[in-house]
Amino acid sequence: MSMNNTPAAERVHIGIFGRRNVGKSSIINALTGQDLAIVSDRKGTTTDPVLKAMELLPLGPVVMIDTPGLDDEGELGRFRIQKAYQILNKTDIALLVLDGTVGMTDADKKILERIKAKHIPYLIVMNKADLLSDFQHKENDKDCLWVSARNRTQIHELKERIAHLVPSDEPDRYIVRDLVSPLDLVVLVVPIDKAAPKGRLILPQQQTIRDLLEAGAASVVVRDMELEDMLKKLETAPALVITDSQAFRTVAQIVPKNVPLTSFSILFARYKGNLDTLVNGAKHIDNLQDGDTILISEGCTHHRQCDDIGTVKLPNWLKEHTGKALNFEFTNGTEFPSELNKYRLIVHCGGCMLNEREIKYRMKCAQDSGIPVTNYGTVIAYMNGILERSLEIFHTLH
Ligand code: SF4
Repeated sequence: MSMNNTPAAERVHIGIFGRRNVGKSSIINALTGQDLAIVSDRKGTTTDPVLKAMELLPLGPVVMIDTPGLDDEGELGRFRIQKAYQILNKTDIALLVLDGTVGMTDADKKILERIKAKHIPYLIVMNKADLLSDFQHKENDKDCLWVSARNRTQIHELKERIAHLVPSDEPDRYIVRDLVSPLDLVVLVVPIDKAAPKGRLILPQQQTIRDLLEAGAASVVVRDMELEDMLKKLETAPALVITDSQAFRTVAQIVPKNVPLTSFSILFARYKGNLDTLVNGAKHIDNLQDGDTILISEGCTHHRQCDDIGTVKLPNWLKEHTGKALNFEFTNGTEFPSELNKYRLIVHCGGCMLNEREIKYRMKCAQDSGIPVTNYGTVIAYMNGILERSLEIFHTLH
């Protein structure tokens, strides 16, 4: 994906569900006018969820998720069905594709119940209308639309219906725009160590700079090692300093107490609506006991941008800070345990590659099980004794 494209986490995620051979992949191809999914008459061609970022007019940037068949068989089949169900956690809009010549089966009813329980806006797509002689007389209602992916019948209508499923009453939320004024100067501290990706900034840094531009503010981006000299060179004190969490301790010592200071991860926790939960979770580390197990969960699987923070540094810092003999378990990617009771704390990564629905779902699972949850940046700030300072900037808001 090019850097100029809408980040995947910001795109509307459309999950396509249904049994094998009902035409899920053909529906995607009809919607996009491209041959993206693998289409075959052979049952169960989609064995792993397939994600594709694309423009879907009139909606705009979306991610289409083609999922394995809900009636797959055998041990492997059950595993694939589980994967399809997991995709619900990142689905903003669900399309349940049915074979119109067969109608609703038990497998369809089961996932539909789950879709409704999760309050995901959905549409039942009755495909293969071309095989029915009385197709013209079939009734469409607000939850159901008859189409033919093969003949491209009703596809325009399908796109319109999808666009109307997007909730439009979301209040405006900003990463940092509401914390600064036009012409303010904001210093961003971005250490370039071996964990930093080569030749570019990571997504939360890019998005913060973009948001500051929208506010009419200026960003000065420096490494931690130049910060002190840079602050001396500036004619006026910055309106705000935003740092990478790992450099928090050093940066807090350099930035004068009267200059507001926070971190990228705290800004993003607020942006995603979880800040209070994460702050409470961070404070819970003081209650940990010998033998407690902590779940450390990361949103990426391959090419993790967070390097060894989750697997090496964080466990060491937590053990050092608490002085307790703690156990750690790790998950990554779309994997997230359904059973959380054995954990005393969940520490999640910033989740920049996960969409909001998935993050909210994980927070909800933790809350439902009564397990405190925090994230890397918040717990690091707490362990360094600078969490309160990094939250002060929000107290000035009305
Ligand atoms: S999703 Fe998590 S692990 Fe992946 S880059 Fe973002 S913060 Fe790091």
